[in-house]
Amino acid sequence: MSLPRIIENSPLARMARLKLKAGSVAMVLGSSIHLSGATREQFLSDPYWVAHEMEHIRQFQQYGRFGFLWRYVRDWARHGYYNIPFEVQAREAGEQNAGLYAAGRPLPTPEQRHPTPKAG
Ligand SMILES: [Zn+2]
Repeated sequence: MSLPRIIENSPLARMARLKLKAGSVAMVLGSSIHLSGATREQFLSDPYWVAHEMEHIRQFQQYGRFGFLWRYVRDWARHGYYNIPFEVQAREAGEQNAGLYAAGRPLPTPEQRHPTPKAG
């Protein structure tokens, strides 16, 4: 399974992390995954998280850069972060597709998984 480009210590992801009051976030822009508060290794060690972000990459491809971003921002204002339809869809994909990214390792326990931000 080929992975997209991963950018650690991303200033854009840091802004999202502060907004969401989260310890760590990943954020998709185009076909890149931007991280703040997590290393590449920490991100890749949670296949649920990887599957979640891969769904955002698929959404980005489906709607295009501007189509994705304006819907995302509009729906954030309307529904709050947790209920953005793209996020609901990505959480479902994360649950369904984690096995694809586990690379033969056991899936992490709930305690080991990256927590979903609830604020914002
Ligand atoms: Zn997401």
